[in-house]
Amino acid sequence: MPASPDSDSVFSLVGVTRSFGAVRAVDEVSLEFARGRTTVLIGSSGSGKSTVLRLLLGLEWPDAGEVRCDGAPLQRTRVPSVRRSVGYVIQEGGLFPHLTVLGNLALLPHHLGWNRARIRARALELAELTHLRETQFARFPAELSGGQRQRVALIRALMLDPPTLLLDEPLGALDPLVRHGLQDELRGIFGRLGKTVIMVTHDLAEAAFFSDRLVLMRRGRVVQDGSIEDFRRAPAGDFVREFLAAHRGLPEAPA
Ligand code: ADP
Ligand code: MG
Repeated sequence: MPASPDSDSVFSLVGVTRSFGAVRAVDEVSLEFARGRTTVLIGSSGSGKSTVLRLLLGLEWPDAGEVRCDGAPLQRTRVPSVRRSVGYVIQEGGLFPHLTVLGNLALLPHHLGWNRARIRARALELAELTHLRETQFARFPAELSGGQRQRVALIRALMLDPPTLLLDEPLGALDPLVRHGLQDELRGIFGRLGKTVIMVTHDLAEAAFFSDRLVLMRRGRVVQDGSIEDFRRAPAGDFVREFLAAHRGLPEAPA
């Protein structure tokens, strides 16, 4: 059944192109991101995944085509309100280096008038969820490991409990055990709270764990849009086959 355009999409891209010099970072891409669902953008480095997220937030603007939010064109005047409804984790975390962990977490809630007790309680709740110790709250980002910084960035994005989350490789710097645990927790949060999530990863197993909708990008274009089963059963060309093969599992143990 062809849905009416944007019928219940939080975001959509309609024929969007964004170039940087000679590079078409995003090349005539049309995508809809349905409310309450998780979509994973996957593809090699440089394929345009981060630029898609930045276009949705008005951090980049299309050279051609249109970005829509809640069915209406994204215009500069709407950007502040759109950003308030979105928790965004940028690829490198993007913490303010001159603020402590708690200072980073408090920034937005404080601006919205939360008192210190409420901010601390929410931060503690999320720290428990992501296995970050309270003793880290007084540290500065430079005093944390990459994995700890990533968890702080995630907590910061979740502080206001936004309905939509844009997560750019949010777990990439975590060691495998923490990453595995946090994948479980996050998938639980997304499903339970009906979040609309657009997540970037370059890990196919992680992508398939989070969603039955994977969007595989290559050189700014969407190569395939479907479930991991669709990718396996009907790969849209040699690139998809090679991409799947490059993510093979561990070798079988010798008999
Ligand atoms: P990905 O997130 O999939 O690794 P990006 O969206 O970051 O890919 O980048 C896609 C392409 O656009 C890359 O070739 C990258 O170098 C280029 N690009 C992205 N942002 C900029 C920018 N601000 N200036 C110049 N080139 C950029
Ligand atoms: Mg990127």
